[in-house]
Amino acid sequence: MICKENNLLHNNLGIKENNLTFAGYDTVALAKKYGTPLMLLDENKIRNTMRTYKSAMQTYFGNDSVPLYASKALSFVGIYQIAKEEGINTDIVSIGELYTAIKAGFPLERAFFHGNCKTDYDIEYAIDNGIGFFNVDTYDELYAINKIAGSKGIKQKILLRLTPGIDPHTHAAISTGKVDSKFGTAIETGQAMEITKVAISLENIDLRGFHCHIGSQIFEIEPFCDAADIMIKFIDDVRAETGYEAEYLNLGGGFGVRYVESDPVIDYTDNIRRIAEHINSYCEENDLHKPKILMEPGRSMVADSGMTIYTVGSVKEITGYKNYVAIDGGMSDNPRYALYGSQYTVLCANKMNDEASYECTIAGRLCESGDLIQENVKIPKVQRGDNIAVLVTGAYNYAMASNYNRVPRPLVLLLGNEERVAIRRETPEDVSKLDNIL
Ligand SMILES: *Cc1c(COP(=O)(O)O)cnc(C)c1O
Repeated sequence: MICKENNLLHNNLGIKENNLTFAGYDTVALAKKYGTPLMLLDENKIRNTMRTYKSAMQTYFGNDSVPLYASKALSFVGIYQIAKEEGINTDIVSIGELYTAIKAGFPLERAFFHGNCKTDYDIEYAIDNGIGFFNVDTYDELYAINKIAGSKGIKQKILLRLTPGIDPHTHAAISTGKVDSKFGTAIETGQAMEITKVAISLENIDLRGFHCHIGSQIFEIEPFCDAADIMIKFIDDVRAETGYEAEYLNLGGGFGVRYVESDPVIDYTDNIRRIAEHINSYCEENDLHKPKILMEPGRSMVADSGMTIYTVGSVKEITGYKNYVAIDGGMSDNPRYALYGSQYTVLCANKMNDEASYECTIAGRLCESGDLIQENVKIPKVQRGDNIAVLVTGAYNYAMASNYNRVPRPLVLLLGNEERVAIRRETPEDVSKLDNIL
């Protein structure tokens, strides 16, 4: 939703005197208090989004439908605590995320382990900690889980990840549902049917259903409806050939998020309602059994609940070329422009009422010419010491942060009824803590 009063990108943004507010807090005051780069998270908005997904899915898909938070978007102890409190499930993709969820006291029977190359160590670690489901990508993994589960005398619940052959027209690097993908097994080639038969036959595997994830930052519902049709048809083909009836269909994540003014405003409840209506009528018309539907949003659960505040370190004007505004962070806390040319909205947090007529490129502090946050944006004229706000950084920013150049990672502050440090600022000692003195 656009904030009506001041026309800012999202309704948790505002202006107080000349400063940008976020979740009701003065971002410039927070920058002074905690230092920069500073990542802010709007706790109430995260909780509201989780509730929106949960209630929309239960209303339109049925009570046994539940969202999984795809925690690769932003993983830290507090977010699993919030997901647990809000009664939703979670996806994890590594033992690091799994360990973080354990530390948060997240009930692991509600966790799904994803990824296209789980090691024996990962599998064993997850089983030993009582993981709910594995989302299985390949034969190699299927056999490995069967063997390890057998050695522990259990039957492990899994979903099989399939590629329905959908191209959702997003950036190639974030599109995953096509046949030619490193993820999942293709339906089109007949291989999905083969792996399903193998999964059913394995003694220590408890196949509960199927999964697909077609991509990310998708604004239309048609790709989801098309994927659902193909998956539900496949589930019926499996029933016809083997008698096996899938319990779950996981439709993945991928709903789009509004990063810039030109992106549409998305109503997640309405999207889920329309996808559910489509699935219901598809199943009715074709006399097909409707599985329990799962969805696993990552980006849309946290992206617009986050923003990053930086401090300007230098302004450089190259006569006849362009202007660079350098900030005290960069691709080490937000690599998405360098990776995919992602768009962001940039504001000067302490000059919100000044005219945004200074065209410049926002550059990071890392020793890499590609270390840019955004090119050719318009902000008020800034100088060293001003605060730059980059909006909608909740997803795939901190999660993708690195210590390139041994730059310490930012502090993450959770803003709810009170301010809580969710991840403390890294120090130079942290950055070298794994090094041995030779
Ligand atoms: C990344 C990913 C998600 C989350 O996607 P978003 O676009 O962040 O909603 C969900 N499922 C799988 C398997 C993923 O890889």
